[in-house]
Amino acid sequence: MFRVQREELIDELTQKGISDLSVINAIGRIPREKFIPVTMQHFAYKDVALPIGYEQTISQPYTVAYMTQQLNIKKPGMKILEIGTGSGYQAAVLYEMGCDVYSIERNLDLHHRTTKLFDKLGIRVHAKYGDGTIGWKDFAPFDGIIVTAGSPSIPQKLKEQLIVGGRMIIPVGDRISQKLLLLKKISEEEFETETIPEFAFVPLIGREGWKK
Ligand code: SAM
Repeated sequence: MFRVQREELIDELTQKGISDLSVINAIGRIPREKFIPVTMQHFAYKDVALPIGYEQTISQPYTVAYMTQQLNIKKPGMKILEIGTGSGYQAAVLYEMGCDVYSIERNLDLHHRTTKLFDKLGIRVHAKYGDGTIGWKDFAPFDGIIVTAGSPSIPQKLKEQLIVGGRMIIPVGDRISQKLLLLKKISEEEFETETIPEFAFVPLIGREGWKK
């Protein structure tokens, strides 16, 4: 089911500039329709964000592909921290690429719903309920960090929990629109930052995020 639509989405993402074949292949294998409400499934392979309940969204496939590509995943077993598990789709793509995925969600109902889905689909992601702005110290350092909600600034703990040589991709801005920042950790204190304009995300709420 949806095989043709999935292939059309892959073509669309390629035309929009996604060139990393491991990202393309993973998106080609993950059934996005399983991560969204049944009533929305006919939109599963449109390149749009969709509501998943609790005022949250599953990110647009292009955004997922673009952010994943920026993590530069080149070998299996890379340890990646995701902030904002949401529907679980982004985590599933990373898992499919061979990453060791740690994902944090602050909405308890969504966390429960998504961990059940991971079990059902055999997706082995380490998922935790909590405030992702403080990271997941027990498993740090991470080779890559992906934040899937818009933050007012870059949480200090996430910078600390990134390995030297690792990359973090995070939307930063106001509550309406954000720029994607790509941080490369050069040394314990130094980061190289690239800015990619105009992406929009739901807010990152937490100790180092927005206050509700
Ligand atoms: N990665 C998700 C996916 O593949 O469906 C998309 C996530 S949605 C755009 C952003 C998610 O971030 C929401 O589920 C929201 O509850 C969560 N979130 C917001 N602030 C958070 C925080 N401080 N810690 C963890 N999750 C947070």
